[in-house]
Amino acid sequence: MNIKFNHALNDIKIYEAGKPIELVVREFGIDAKDVVKLASNENPKGVSPKVAQAIATNAYKAYLYPDDSMFELKAALAKKYAVNTDNIIIGAGSDQVLEFVSRAVLDDKSSVLMSGITFAMYEIYAKQMGAKVYKTANYRHLYDEFMEAYTMYHPKIVYICTPNNPTGDATLKSEVIRLIEAIKKDTVIVVDGAYMEYAVAKDEQYRITPLDLLAYDNVIYLGTFSKAYGLGGMRVGYGIANQEFIHELYKMRPPFNITTLSLLAAIEAMKDEVFVEESVALHLQEIKRYEAFAKERNIEYIESYTNFITYLFNEKRNATEISNALLGRGVIIRNLASYGLNGVRITVGTAEQNSIFFRHFDDVTSNN
Ligand SMILES: *Cc1c(COP(=O)(O)O)cnc(C)c1O
Repeated sequence: MNIKFNHALNDIKIYEAGKPIELVVREFGIDAKDVVKLASNENPKGVSPKVAQAIATNAYKAYLYPDDSMFELKAALAKKYAVNTDNIIIGAGSDQVLEFVSRAVLDDKSSVLMSGITFAMYEIYAKQMGAKVYKTANYRHLYDEFMEAYTMYHPKIVYICTPNNPTGDATLKSEVIRLIEAIKKDTVIVVDGAYMEYAVAKDEQYRITPLDLLAYDNVIYLGTFSKAYGLGGMRVGYGIANQEFIHELYKMRPPFNITTLSLLAAIEAMKDEVFVEESVALHLQEIKRYEAFAKERNIEYIESYTNFITYLFNEKRNATEISNALLGRGVIIRNLASYGLNGVRITVGTAEQNSIFFRHFDDVTSNN
């Protein structure tokens, strides 16, 4: 290959997405309906029936470009969070907003700071810009570790993922605010609340709202419709920040960056908060089974504030072997080896899916 790609690419590892159902069907000849996918933190209740109906009814609109102002969705978000529409930018997933922030702020002389194990895309977007990536030692967002690294490296972006993926832990609101207050105002702080709906249902002390953060004009809050709202396949997320900050991000945005049906689905999803509440309630029930299951088998797990749980194995169990064995049986979970952990992340599914997981897990680990 003689092409001279941007040298920043040398240092980038391609994002490893959760394996799709189609792969298991193709590789193992398992029927799609028998595949249990607990790998990408999707809502196991699926799409709200009201949203599914609206998508079906409006399918004929697929030939139309979406309303590029996305006014109705922004108005609904503005109302929900008590902010203004000009504090909001919509992305094709909050991933795209992360990309906007990275491109708007970073260059090859900058650096970013994040916790030791966190959402892989922060690093990828930063490296695309040639920026250096610094991580704290712990996966938890510890004030002292962050401030020590911050003082040493002067990063242009600090990422706070709370609750954190792929570990499931969360950071107290008071701790997040303490960090924000300690960091200089010329540093962007991204507070990624992709799983916030789950954290607040468990413990109010973890609730961080975009409005709380608007008090600081260097902070952006990210939210998504991919998790509790059941719309991972529609690719809709948002960023909420000071209006001048949002204005700059708009310069990075391609026109029509989400689809007509995605926009419609997100608007409908916001009218069906009951679905989200029921989803979270189901989750809080089912995750107890994962905790009990782990305790009975002496498996360490991280207390979770998300819709998944992270099991950490000792040397007697091998995460890669277990994940592969489960895959062959049509159960997809996330191996965390690529994060340097001998552990797995399991999205908490429906009661039935979880029972299937437990059964197969015991089968494939019975020799270990
Ligand atoms: C899922 C996830 C996102 C964004 O997902 P999108 O589908 O792009 O909205 C962002 N941050 C974290 C930590 C996530 O787990």
